[in-house]
Amino acid sequence: MNRIARNFTSKPSSRARLLLRTQPIPSSPLFSSQTLALNQNQSIVQSFTRFSLHGPLSDAMTALEILHSRGLRAADPVDYLHLIKLCLSDGATDAGRRIHSHLASSGYLPVLFLSNSLLGMYVRFGLVDDARQMFDSLPFRNVVSWTTMISALIDIDLQSDALYFFVLMQRDGIRPNMFTFSSIIRACNTLSTLWAMHCCSINHGLEFDDFVGSSLIDAYFKCGDSESGRLVFDEMITGDPVVWNSVIGGFAQTGNGHEALKLFRQMKRAGFLAKQATLTSALRACTGMVFLEMGQQVHVHLLKYKSDLILNNALLDMYCKCGSLEEAEYNFRRMPEKDVISWSTMISGLAQNGRSLEALRLFDLMKAEGANPNYITMVGVLFACSHAGLIENAWHYFRSMKRLFDIEPGSEHYGCMVDLLGRAGKLEEAVEFIHEMEFKPDAIIWRTLLGACRVHKNVNFAAYAAQEILKLEPEDEGTCILLSNIYADAKQWSDVEQMRKMMRDRGIRKEPGRSWMDVGKETHVFIAGDFSNAQMEGINRELERLISRISRMGYVPDTEFVLHDLGREQKEESLRYHSEKMAIAFGMMNSTEGKPIRIMKNLRICGDCHEFAKLVSRTEGKVIVIRDPVRFHHFKVGACSCGDYW
Ligand code: ZN
Ligand code: ZN
Repeated sequence: MNRIARNFTSKPSSRARLLLRTQPIPSSPLFSSQTLALNQNQSIVQSFTRFSLHGPLSDAMTALEILHSRGLRAADPVDYLHLIKLCLSDGATDAGRRIHSHLASSGYLPVLFLSNSLLGMYVRFGLVDDARQMFDSLPFRNVVSWTTMISALIDIDLQSDALYFFVLMQRDGIRPNMFTFSSIIRACNTLSTLWAMHCCSINHGLEFDDFVGSSLIDAYFKCGDSESGRLVFDEMITGDPVVWNSVIGGFAQTGNGHEALKLFRQMKRAGFLAKQATLTSALRACTGMVFLEMGQQVHVHLLKYKSDLILNNALLDMYCKCGSLEEAEYNFRRMPEKDVISWSTMISGLAQNGRSLEALRLFDLMKAEGANPNYITMVGVLFACSHAGLIENAWHYFRSMKRLFDIEPGSEHYGCMVDLLGRAGKLEEAVEFIHEMEFKPDAIIWRTLLGACRVHKNVNFAAYAAQEILKLEPEDEGTCILLSNIYADAKQWSDVEQMRKMMRDRGIRKEPGRSWMDVGKETHVFIAGDFSNAQMEGINRELERLISRISRMGYVPDTEFVLHDLGREQKEESLRYHSEKMAIAFGMMNSTEGKPIRIMKNLRICGDCHEFAKLVSRTEGKVIVIRDPVRFHHFKVGACSCGDYW
């Protein structure tokens, strides 16, 4: 029961007590008791009308009870409708039930809009049994009652009951309308039920309705069949913004940002106005694809929704994840309203881009402004502490987050602490810390430890971490190779053979390294060891030039492979054609004066490419930004924002 509902069951307010006190009618020498009673009755009726319209609910209910006890039938269906609305906004279930019984005794229950509202109220309160009982007792059920009942069941995850009601309804001779279909289609979580409902909507001639169409698109995407979702969209005649939103959102959420953005551009060309939901989807697509320029184009359409918090947060996230901290900060400062998501996004954004101290300063500001940090904020804070080497601060926040902010440390927080210990070279402590964790460490935590072992060249712990990763993710080829390298180095030939056999048997193949970047309006993709790029000759020449320039500064290809996820056979030659090196060369060939080269990468950057990028940023005087799945590397004048630890 919420606060207001509790208030309601307690004592009536002073106004209502005044009303109650008038009940025993005092006789007066001036007025006959009948006239006085009439006047008082009128005033109670007036009070009731006022209370039922504007609240408080407790006073309205008191007045209703008095009217009832005096046998006055002063409340009309509209008054009751207002009362139901008050119950809903106050979350007052008891009052709702009492209104129900009043309605029954006043004979208004057959009024359809009242019975449907009451039904809807029970459903919104999650009182399905009451709703069901009431539904069964209704003398008339039109399509709205059925649809209310069906969407109610869906809302509380009783999909099969909803489908059953859908059948009953048609047995009762009621034709489902577009709202019924829209609800029932959203309830489908398997393709077979979805197909059945799709067929059914076609039989009722409703498949091209905007509501039904957009539900069909949503449901197909949710069931993993984006092709059918797209097909429904293509067949739609009107293309209402709701329908565009479904298809763009569908592609954005299923990770197909390319298609989402293509459709977004089509929508704009067709002259449709993109609303907040569509713009949010478009921004998320840009974020996922790290398309800064496209994100900036979407930003232009946001100007009329300047105060929309969800959109502003999505914009902030896009700028942070696309590595443009300047624009992120600019927009953050100008947000008319900030919530914990805005603060967390900005704090994590700064931390992931190597600006730890600023992230921590922002966290102090957040607390000073009275905002409460959440789980994600604390991940950002610990990430920043660990990257800035602030061991004491990290321990302080980690140990006191429960007490200070009521946040239970989760695996991400533990991961940050393992990272912190690893960076400081305290590998033994890190392992101990993992063992003392209250839950089972996941592969991410072991990978963090493995990363630290690589940097500090600790083969024993590396082997241990790799073994633990392979217990959780036996298909991880990079870790398999790394472990077999370690075994080979230790001359444990039987273990090496065992690893190789396992990889052969399981057909494990390494996901090729892939880098991509935008030049102009096009996205160029580079795959390690793949020379099919049309400009390969030019890229080769540029690589040659860059390598010869940085060699003079002491660059030697790092072919030390023991703690790398590269096989013995992949040496200098293959290092040269790592995808990010090709991308950097291509970026240099097509670069604009003063603009950084921005590259996205599917795998963690290797030590050799990291060194290469650092030196190129120095000899060529160019800022290079590489985003891997976890963090950004901003290479500038020979140094990287990650501090050579990633
Ligand atoms: Zn590399
Ligand atoms: Zn770096």
